[in-house]
Amino acid sequence: MSKYFSAKYAALTPYVPGEQPKDAQYVKLNTNESPFAPPQSVIDAARLEAGKLHLYSDPESAALTKKAAEVWGVKKSQILMTNGSDEALNFAFMAFCDENHPIAFPDITYGFYPVFAALNGIPYETIPLRADFSVGYEDYLAIGKNIVIANPNAPTGMALSLVQIEEIVKSNPSNVVIIDEAYVDFGGESCVPLIEKYNNLLVTQTFSKSRSLAGARLGVAIGNEKLIADLNTVKYSTNPYNVNRMTAAAGLAILGETEWFENNRKAICENREYTTAALKELGFTVLDSKTNFLFAKSDKVKGKALYEGLKAKGVLIRHFNTARIADYVRITIGTKEQMDVFLAKTKEIIEEAAK
Ligand code: PMP
Repeated sequence: MSKYFSAKYAALTPYVPGEQPKDAQYVKLNTNESPFAPPQSVIDAARLEAGKLHLYSDPESAALTKKAAEVWGVKKSQILMTNGSDEALNFAFMAFCDENHPIAFPDITYGFYPVFAALNGIPYETIPLRADFSVGYEDYLAIGKNIVIANPNAPTGMALSLVQIEEIVKSNPSNVVIIDEAYVDFGGESCVPLIEKYNNLLVTQTFSKSRSLAGARLGVAIGNEKLIADLNTVKYSTNPYNVNRMTAAAGLAILGETEWFENNRKAICENREYTTAALKELGFTVLDSKTNFLFAKSDKVKGKALYEGLKAKGVLIRHFNTARIADYVRITIGTKEQMDVFLAKTKEIIEEAAK
């Protein structure tokens, strides 16, 4: 830390992203990206925009916003495009939370929430997941605090039902409830239709997972138009050109690739079921995932040993060395071929451990 670093950030512990190795070739199952490269139409659209990079992007991302509003079935005033959904979440923390408006979220969830809170000087309460790792939705009823819940949750992969989400939103009318639907396309129920009924619901989604654009950084916030106007106030006070030209073009193109999208999310769900069954045969406990990753625990090898063993064999997965989940690993669902490599190496590690 330099002597110039602001005291307000002195205690900040930044978010640690999953490894993005530059040296060796890995089967990369550690950051919940899509294993499928975007289709040619997306590459062509981004390339075309590259020739206009001397000009600022459209601060309103008008063409993309119009198309996204159609896809999500909302008005243009109810949607905001952002630089990844991380930015939408940070905008929401900035816009709706402060020392008098704290936020609550599960103790085991997306690791960025406490960082956004700390960054913005927001007090937060963590509510423990139940013993089976589900979000105890009753714990969020009428709590009189802002709330953020990843649904499906990460890194567990488990989801709440739409009815349970509605109960939470309905019972906290004086607070904003943010539902982070980064993984909803892999089997969760989206609560976007509820935004018409509840003016305190904000939903975020991402193009990083089911739409294969993690590297482009594109996210979306959907909610009542007054909430979106507030997010715009924050956006225009930080980074008006938050979505760059190439990303806006890529995003517009991918939203037109309906069949490609459906095929890919179906493939991920199939590979997930295939991997779940194979892991259970190897003696793993596997949580019920509605996402593009699995959260699983071996009855023979500790989480850290499995992570390290797989890394040595060229397969990257994620291990969180924190209370309650240290025995687990998180495995992103890739192609069938990638999952076969992962399963074969996992089997080797288990056999080596038994010797
Ligand atoms: N929410 C959750 C639960 C996530 O796991 C992620 C991905 N790390 C994000 C939000 C942010 O994704 P992005 O910024 O790529 O849209």
